[in-house]
Amino acid sequence: MHTSCEYCGREGFYGEKIYESHKWIIYLAPSQRYLGTCVVALKRSCRDLNQLNKDEWIDFGELVILLEKAVSKTLNPTLFNWSCFKNSAFRSKNPKPEVHWHFIPRYEKKVKFDDIDFQDPDFGYIPQPVQRIIPEKTHLKLKNLIQKQLI
Ligand SMILES: [Zn+2]
Repeated sequence: MHTSCEYCGREGFYGEKIYESHKWIIYLAPSQRYLGTCVVALKRSCRDLNQLNKDEWIDFGELVILLEKAVSKTLNPTLFNWSCFKNSAFRSKNPKPEVHWHFIPRYEKKVKFDDIDFQDPDFGYIPQPVQRIIPEKTHLKLKNLIQKQLI
């Protein structure tokens, strides 16, 4: 049964780690249909948002500010989408969902990064789980760019 999350890529693989706080880890997602897409995953196994403790919420709130600031400064998107779906885990008979957020910058206008055009074809609507893999060197450049703002 295929249970990997369309927004994250492979099952259990959220991308390349770019930052770690006390309670969460930020990864640069493998798919970059929306430039700067990240995954913010909780460091412990936890099934539902209602099971997060106060420290985890506070830490998450601080990360939201940090990450939005970092990506605004570097890529200048129009807005950010945050989603916590967990749908893919429930395609399995014995679902073990993990709390993780999809952080998706959205762009009204086309942006150029590393000489590649990024157009948000779904602007104004929910992001589509269509994979876009970018060259490894561009991925690394993007990772370094965001990472520099976070540390
Ligand atoms: Zn996911």
